[in-house]
Parts: sequence; structure tokens; C-alpha cells
Amino acid sequence: MHMDGNSKRSGTEGELGVSAAEQYVSSVRQKTSRELRAERIILIGLLGFPFLGVLVGTRLLWTNGISALDAALLVSLYVFTGLGISVGFHRLFTHRSFNCPRWIRGVIAIAGSLAVEGPMIRWVADHRRHHQYSDRAGDPHSPRLGVAGAMDLVHAHVGWFFAHDMARASYFAKDLLDDPMIRRIDRLYLVWMFLTLAVPTLIGFACTGTARGAFSALIWGGLVRIFCVHHSTWLVNSVCHTVGSRPYRSNDGSTNNFLVALLTFGEGWHNNHHAFPGSARHGFRTWQIDVSWWVIRSLELMGAASDVRVPDTRQLARRKIQTKEAQ
Ligand SMILES: [Zn+2]
Ligand SMILES: [Zn+2]
Repeated sequence: MHMDGNSKRSGTEGELGVSAAEQYVSSVRQKTSRELRAERIILIGLLGFPFLGVLVGTRLLWTNGISALDAALLVSLYVFTGLGISVGFHRLFTHRSFNCPRWIRGVIAIAGSLAVEGPMIRWVADHRRHHQYSDRAGDPHSPRLGVAGAMDLVHAHVGWFFAHDMARASYFAKDLLDDPMIRRIDRLYLVWMFLTLAVPTLIGFACTGTARGAFSALIWGGLVRIFCVHHSTWLVNSVCHTVGSRPYRSNDGSTNNFLVALLTFGEGWHNNHHAFPGSARHGFRTWQIDVSWWVIRSLELMGAASDVRVPDTRQLARRKIQTKEAQ
């Protein structure tokens, strides 16, 4: 299925005939002081514990190295939960760039939830808000608005979590709120948070039979892995609106960044993505490694994905910036 670069799905329409200010008021709300307090405590844990895990992991690496089991847990859970974010939260649920059977939607939603980047519907609402206001007032995490001065990159990476306003899910993610299965997975957020640490710990214990084995599996397969998935995802918000090439017109400062694309299974082709937000494929050239696209394409070939949207060559050419540096 082909698509147009300007096409956007519900929740991101900017042509509703209401003024920008009215639109902003209905799409964003202030957090209550109770919400702010609770969020701060959760965020400190969410950012702090994986960081502590990295410190402990470094110490373990220095003294004992890393076992094959711990390395396998780190890599496999990084891939599973990272693809849950990229293929699931982003390309399937936020942009609806393809369709798949209900049970696969469920599995992908759980995979993304295990990355503990916040409840799924909140994640989708925040990201649709980012596309609606990309690099303009209202964008929750632009590094280009000067909101934090010299700390703009930090603001785009993690600082925006502490903002006083938030996207309204009823405005940006009504389609997900209307889906009982997705609502259930979203509400079970604390369960996924527990399981994402419990599963590697139990595997570590089952395979080694020791508390020490369980602990190192918790560190590598749990906390270090969460740290790596978190920060690679957030590099897309910070680095991919700052450093890299801009081959396509996209009305914002989004960039393509090879390194971020490698770490995030293709999400680093972010200028391509902003130019064609509804495309299931982000790496348009053969050398633009896009593992998430390979996964979606494989699902399609197996008959497990349908309505896969990609721009055709004419649509790509229309948005291409015709300068030498942008080639
Ligand atoms: Zn962006
Ligand atoms: Zn997006």
C-alpha cells in the first residue's frame, strides 16, 4: 500500500478549522500537583535504578567478567523490548503504518510495555503530540526551542518527563482508549514493570541454582538492559533533532543518524520518518539499516501483517531536498 508524505492519522490532524490556541488547549493539560509529586518519585526510580544497575554491572564486569547466560539475557531482552517500542509502540500503535492480527498486536504491546518507558497509551499520546507540534511550541521534547538553554539536549533526552503539562490521551489516543485489550495492557503497567525484572532474575536462578546467578541476571538482563533501551530510544528525541543529515523536507529539525539507527532498530532514520510519518519503513535506501522494517516485512511475507504503508518513488522524490549536501 502506498501513502503520501503529508498523510497523518487521527490525533495528528492540524486542519480541523480551530485556531492553534484552541487546539493546544484541547490537546494538552496541566498535571495536578499530586500527579507531579507521584511522577517525580516514579521517575527518580525509573531513571535511578537502571543507572545504579549500570554501576553495579561495571563493577561485576571488572571483577568477574560477564557470563554467557547474562550476555544472552542482555542481548535477547534488549532486542525483544526494543522492537516492542519500535515496531509496536511507534510504527504500529502511534502511526498505524501496518495492521496485524489481534494476538500479535497484544504480544507486541506487551513487548513494548516491558521496556518500561511509561504506560503505552501515554507513550503514544506523547509521540503523536511530538508529531503535531514538531520543533514548535507545544512539542514536549524538542531540543530546538531554547526551553532549557545550554541543557536543551538534556531536556529533549530526559528533562521533559518532569514537565508540568502532558498530552491528553482522550485527544491524541482515542483509538487506543476505545480498544479494551490495549486498555487492559496499559493498566497492567506495574505488572510489566515487575515482570521485566523478575523474568531474567528467575532465569538466572533456574540456570545457575545460586542467588549470585539470579542477582547478576537481574543486573544484566534487567537493569542494564532497561538502561540501554531507555537511552537509545531517547537518543531519537535528542540527537535525531540535532545531529545528522536532512535529505527530506519535513517542517522541523529532524535528522537521520546512522549510529542511532543501529541502536534503535532503524528509528534513527528520523528525518525520513518525519517526512513520511505513516510509513512502516524508515530506512529508504538499501544501506539504511532498518531492522524494524525487516521484521514488519517478514510478518507481511508470512501473512501476519497487512496494509503495510510505504511511500513510492514518486512520493519520495517530491519531498527530497535537492542539494548536494543532502544527498
Ligand atoms: Zn521527532
Ligand atoms: Zn513517529
